[in-house]
Amino acid sequence: MYVYSMAKKDLSGLDLKGAIDFYRRNSAELLKRLPGDANNTDIQYDLDKPDCMAVTPSQINALINLFPRQARERFYVDAIRGYPTVYFRRDYAPGREVTFDATEAISETAIVPSFIPDHPDGHIGIFRIPESVIPEEIIRRIIHSQGLVHELVHSLAKRAKSQGTEQIQLPSSRIVNTKDYLLGLREILEEHAPISAYSSAFRLPNGKLDDNEGRLFQSIDENLAEIVTAHLLGFSFCDDDSRGLNPFADRKGLVKLAQDYLSARKV
Ligand SMILES: [Zn+2]
Repeated sequence: MYVYSMAKKDLSGLDLKGAIDFYRRNSAELLKRLPGDANNTDIQYDLDKPDCMAVTPSQINALINLFPRQARERFYVDAIRGYPTVYFRRDYAPGREVTFDATEAISETAIVPSFIPDHPDGHIGIFRIPESVIPEEIIRRIIHSQGLVHELVHSLAKRAKSQGTEQIQLPSSRIVNTKDYLLGLREILEEHAPISAYSSAFRLPNGKLDDNEGRLFQSIDENLAEIVTAHLLGFSFCDDDSRGLNPFADRKGLVKLAQDYLSARKV
């Protein structure tokens, strides 16, 4: 059944080609928006194979510090590990998403920048970006910065996804079950067009979140990760450069959503 639904889905969001072009056209502006190097290069997590990463330890610290303390206390991360290049598969399907073999990829730019495994593993993976495909260091840095922030947002939902018992206290003081809270975001997410091309891969052709075969939580988590990342970095690749550089111009309600989620406290 999913073959039918997946075949109708837009997989172009899994190819970085458009994003790379957007980053190239706007690299000077995007460089200004990335946080500068943090003074502290001493990462609070284990750092493994940093040579695979286009972000330095001090840049990683600066990206972590974009998150408010309440969010950092909810991270579920113990290590950041570098890996060889991985691609999204041409025959992408749940459980069969990626390959190390470039000949099986959607294209040479369908690179996976980063990932976070299922609970209870607490690491974030960063995949090498081939210099032959993206020679500019700044573009590789933008991609890995975006990827790291995106995975850190996912880490906030890991306990909720696996256990369903975690609670958080929202800035309004209301205490909510994290999983119920996230599932309850469906309506507001569907009121707005996907914030990024990547988010579109988790929507159905009618714009609704993909809820086939138990994928609703993942679709919400991916859309939310892209929204919070756009909020923290100030850009997001979509099909329109002006929206990409001002992602919340017509999505004010999503700013509050991102702020609430980041400011929620561990109960
Ligand atoms: Zn993701």
